[in-house]
Amino acid sequence: MTKIITEKQRELLFRSEGAKSDRYKNLFLFLKRNNSITMEDVEVYKELSDVLSYIDNLLIACQREWNISEDKPFNDLGINYKILGRSCDLCGNKPLRYEHRIVNIMNGNKLVIGSECAKEFGDEVVGTLEWAKKESEKAARRQDVETTIPGIRKFVDSSKDFIRNLPIILPTHLNEKWENQRNIVSRYYNEFVELKKRDIKDIKREWIKVNFIKSEIDEHIKENMHKQHIANRDILLWLINNRKAEVLDMIRNDGGFLSWGTLHRIYEENLMEETLKNLNDHLLKLGIKYKSFNSKTRSVTLKFNRKKRTITASVPYDTLILHFGGVLFNEEVNDFDFYNILNETKVEGRESISKILSFVSNNSLKYILTDKYLEDDEVIFFSENNYYLIKVNTLVNSCKSIYISRAKNNDIDNYINYSKKRIMSRTQYSIYKDIKKETKKLKY
Ligand SMILES: [Zn+2]
Repeated sequence: MTKIITEKQRELLFRSEGAKSDRYKNLFLFLKRNNSITMEDVEVYKELSDVLSYIDNLLIACQREWNISEDKPFNDLGINYKILGRSCDLCGNKPLRYEHRIVNIMNGNKLVIGSECAKEFGDEVVGTLEWAKKESEKAARRQDVETTIPGIRKFVDSSKDFIRNLPIILPTHLNEKWENQRNIVSRYYNEFVELKKRDIKDIKREWIKVNFIKSEIDEHIKENMHKQHIANRDILLWLINNRKAEVLDMIRNDGGFLSWGTLHRIYEENLMEETLKNLNDHLLKLGIKYKSFNSKTRSVTLKFNRKKRTITASVPYDTLILHFGGVLFNEEVNDFDFYNILNETKVEGRESISKILSFVSNNSLKYILTDKYLEDDEVIFFSENNYYLIKVNTLVNSCKSIYISRAKNNDIDNYINYSKKRIMSRTQYSIYKDIKKETKKLKY
């Protein structure tokens, strides 16, 4: 006997608004007297003759009136559900273990139904109810595992930040041990909560290992955090923020310590300042003094002092540390001497530049300095009816060592010649001077 309308569907129709229209009056009256409608009934009873034409749509419409209840859509009555003896509002089936609460959006009617009847409602309701059921089960699981291992949820949520909150960078083996173990614990925890096959015992076993590793890390920190060249948390954060993963790996491979190979790749401000302060002790022995540092341009200004001659010159921090940083690590740096360092620098400041220029002019055999345009990095020398426009920067840096060493040197004329931009005739020279005069006027 095929049922057109089951007992359950009858209940649904009674509780929904859609079936109350006058148009379904015959159906409604029939259902009041009968629990269901069969195919036979449709053939026998005249008032049911048109039921088949609309019933499927009417049922869908009625199902659509129902939504899951916002207030606890799913409730697990627990293992003692049989004692409670709850029954389904729709089919009367009991006892229910799982209560599904749905509400009619047209009339506000509420129903507490079992899992089977929940399937009667639209895909959306069924989907949401299933989701709500899963979430409820997950919550119960989380509670279970938290009772066994207090603090586990917090650990899973925040253990990735553990390393970056330590005062120093860990060596590779400890870092990997930690990462590996926290991944295992997190994975097992999530598998357990996600209702996959996983035992709390597995989580507990791995959790105990976490604590062992933690105390190993603590011990390492206590032993090393005050040692020289240990890489601290500021450096770690700088490396992370500047995406220097490969430098971080190098430091970890060096046991968490800085080395000559990594120091010149890190531009964390405090580290740079401290490094220069330490380097100054070594520079002073050579007659070089660390004068100032611009952390924005990373330019280091040094003062070179020899035989009562001084030059101020600058060098990029990276270059300085790359070439000579080894002395900070007691490594043998063969070229750590006065002139090698001077060679890496650029003469800085009008005073130093002027000193070298007049030295060049006084010691040149062929050339005489006639004009200075230092703001344009140009000077003009005169020789044998010609005027030589010279790049100051090139000339001064070629001659700085000669100047400061007071050594006899016959190459000065060659250096002037190397530094020339162009040679001018007397006429060209006077035009050039006029132009300079005009542009100077315009500037002021
Ligand atoms: Zn039911």
